[in-house]
Order: sequence, then C-alpha cells, then structure tokens
Amino acid sequence: MSTGFELRSVSKTYDGGVLALSQVSFEIDARENVAILGPSGCGKSTVLRLMAGLESPSSGQILLNGTNASEEGRVLLPPYRRNVTMVFQDLALWPNLSVLDNVLLGIAAKSLPRQDAHRRAIDALSLCKIEQLAPRKPAKISGGQQQRVALARALASRPRFLFLDEPFSGLDLVTKMELLSDISRLAKKEEITLALVSHDPMEATSLCQSAVVLNNGQIEEKGRLADLLHEPKSAILRVFKEQLKDLPLG
Ligand code: ADP
Repeated sequence: MSTGFELRSVSKTYDGGVLALSQVSFEIDARENVAILGPSGCGKSTVLRLMAGLESPSSGQILLNGTNASEEGRVLLPPYRRNVTMVFQDLALWPNLSVLDNVLLGIAAKSLPRQDAHRRAIDALSLCKIEQLAPRKPAKISGGQQQRVALARALASRPRFLFLDEPFSGLDLVTKMELLSDISRLAKKEEITLALVSHDPMEATSLCQSAVVLNNGQIEEKGRLADLLHEPKSAILRVFKEQLKDLPLG
C-alpha cells in the first residue's frame, strides 16, 4: 500500500478497565474513503482518535504511510504531523466569533502570515459555498450552514485525511444530500481521504468505497462497501441494505 493507515492488532483499554478495541487490524488505502460502522459503543470513535494520534493504543501498532505512528502506550507521530483533521457531531464552533474567525482560529496553529491565512480561510469558505456568511455569527445561520463552517474550518488546514464523526446527524434530508454530494466532490478535487463514522446508509454509500464494521470492539466484517452490502453478515449492514431499498437514490 502506498499511502494510508494500517492498524496492526490494535487493542485499547481505557482507564477504569473498559476494553474499547480488541486486536483490531485493517488498512485504509488513501485512495479510498472508508466508513467505520457498528452499534453505539463498539469502538468507532476510538478508532478515529487512535488514527488521529489523540490516544495511544494499549497494544498493537498504527502505521501511517508505512511509518510507525503509534505503538503500545506511545504516540510516536504527534497529531499535528499526521495531516488529519476531524469534524465531530458537536461542531465546536465558537459562538462569539464570526464564521471567518472560526475558520481562522482553526488554522492559527499553522502560524501563517496574516494575508495567507485570510486567503486560505476565504478559499475554504468558498469551496463550501458559504463565503457570503463570513461576517455572521454561528447562532445566526442554519444547522446545515454551521456544518459547512465546521467543514470549511477543517478544509482550511488542507488535510490529507478528513475524519468525520457523525457530523451530519440532525440535518434534514435535502440539506444532507446536498452537503454529502459537495463533500464527495471536494474530497476528490482536493485529494482528501475520508474516514466516516455514521449510522446512516445514505451517508456511507454516498461518500465511501470501503467499510469496516465493528462490534463489541472487534471487526465483524470489512472490505468494499458494495460487496459487503451484496451479502451482509453484520446486523448493521443487513439493516443498511433494507433501508437503501427505500431511499430515493437507493
Ligand atoms: P462508538 O464511537 O462506537 O460509540 P467509542 O469508541 O466512543 O464507541 O467507545 C467504545 C467504548 O469505550 C465504550 O464502551 C465507551 O464507553 C468507552 N470509552 C470511550 N471513551 C472513553 C474514555 N475516554 N474513558 C473510558 N471509556 C471510554
């Protein structure tokens, strides 16, 4: 594999003894977007945090582009050197800052010259089709627009990998479909690999080519999403298959 993540027999036990992941191994090829699926509490967010370098594995190894990035109890490659940005369900926008300042704050750590930072922020807002919202405060825009601000903030840092942890829940169907198609287009254009945590078959199939299904901290199935949906073994993909039949674009 040229670029991407590889988890080798990764386990994670949190303080207090919760075993969140047990001997999980899979690869994310940077040319494919991956959906990380499974019931609540199965370890999906833990996988993202481990890949982002926000947590260390209790055992096992994580490689990024073939280089050892994390190993037992240690984060070798710090988060800011992984070229990963995350967007969470809680979009974590600063209510007292304008949309533009929210995006600028997201890239403040890069210490870019003022004008460059400003140009990048405006570029990211226009990629997300919300340039005109730059002076507004988050409370004065819609839920879908807030999602776009969080996305613009993530894109402004020009990540190689964008991790999306259920950021679309709570959006109406039309807004969601529009946003999904924009993200899919942007990811291709900007060569960004997506890792998506979701419970929604439409989100997963619109954005991702491959999938890893977790259950109880272990891998239940993994592979090309279309193949998995053809003959799903896991309960979640059986439900997905049923739901996709009823979707307008299914
Ligand atoms: P998911 O994203 O699939 O809902 P998580 O990765 O958030 O699952 O959590 C997996 C398990 O680890 C759950 O049992 C959860 O309660 C536990 N867990 C997650 N984060 C922590 C933490 N910081 N401390 C202790 N337990 C945690």
